[in-house]
Amino acid sequence: MASPAIREIRRLNNAIDAKEVSDVAYKFNSASSGNTDVRIPAEGGNTVLIRSSDMTSLECDWQTLLAILAERKAKPSEDNAKDKPKAKVVQLLHKKRDSYFSYKDIVDSPLCRLLPNGHVVLLDEAARLLHALDREFLQLAQQEQAHDFYAEPFWEQEDLQGFGYQASDKNLCGVNHLGSDDKQFWQIAVCDNIWKSLSNSCIEEGTCYTSKGTCCRHEGRQEFLLERMKSFSMREVVCAGKQDSVMEFRNRSMHFVNKLCERFELDAYYEEANDPFFLESDSEQDKSLNIQVPEIVKFELRLNIYNDRSLSAASFNVHGNFFAQKLDIQHAEGKADVWTSCSAFGIERWVWAILSQHGVDPKKWPKGILALLQGY
Ligand SMILES: [Zn+2]
Repeated sequence: MASPAIREIRRLNNAIDAKEVSDVAYKFNSASSGNTDVRIPAEGGNTVLIRSSDMTSLECDWQTLLAILAERKAKPSEDNAKDKPKAKVVQLLHKKRDSYFSYKDIVDSPLCRLLPNGHVVLLDEAARLLHALDREFLQLAQQEQAHDFYAEPFWEQEDLQGFGYQASDKNLCGVNHLGSDDKQFWQIAVCDNIWKSLSNSCIEEGTCYTSKGTCCRHEGRQEFLLERMKSFSMREVVCAGKQDSVMEFRNRSMHFVNKLCERFELDAYYEEANDPFFLESDSEQDKSLNIQVPEIVKFELRLNIYNDRSLSAASFNVHGNFFAQKLDIQHAEGKADVWTSCSAFGIERWVWAILSQHGVDPKKWPKGILALLQGY
């Protein structure tokens, strides 16, 4: 949040009960603009401290808070309608379970600590799961004989155009020393620096890489718990080659993940998410590149959690010839067009979904998950 220049104490018509405080705060953090925060006393009451960077955001978020309070009695479970999937569900991996552990069950457990700013600390088995899951995702990389790749998790300003972004994009987070004019940004995804490293070069058919990195993405709403974070860990496995082999790579990746969900007893579904940022460019230069993409650019794996919600925990993208055209990546076999694909895993979200689906007593987790933790 920008510096809270404006602070006001405001009164509510109906008091918030002490038992409702964390629930109301949770809903506000999920739905508000990200420019405002609300302090509700732990004992509840009808007075709140509201702080914001500007008056417009404050008024808008105040209305959001009032709407949450008005709705809580009428429809207690109807929060976060915004996060409900809009895209087409293409495959249901496992049926939804009857009940999920709530975020309160999770943050009140010994596996978690909720900080006053709404961020979460993971402990013991939950923290170990981050490493253990990544080791599992690496199995896909091994299956594909991927090269290991490391780059600093930054994008330079001059990289943005080749990645399909502009410096004004609101999702970008800057990395600047105080007072410095340098323009560097945190990476939003891991694969772009891999494609950059291949620019102006020739690749062999079906070349794969894997990399894990910290990504930062400003989503315009406040981050809360591990559902939506400003910075998170992403493992990607990527492939470059002819169209057919890249499409097959994506199929194998999704098959790999189906098996993981089975072993971890996770209920999940895929949906089509055809929102490729890189097709939105309308610059003349991009139009002249003759970008080709498959019919379905992106599949998202969504893991179900509490409150009838789900988290996008992995995505399976085929960028067509976008990166090859933008960054001049050639095929070793001469004329063949280079297509690229990436399979990306948001590691913290897998942990959060496991806690919501299987609970906070590791002894009761499915065997497939317990087996992961052996050796850690
Ligand atoms: Zn990617």
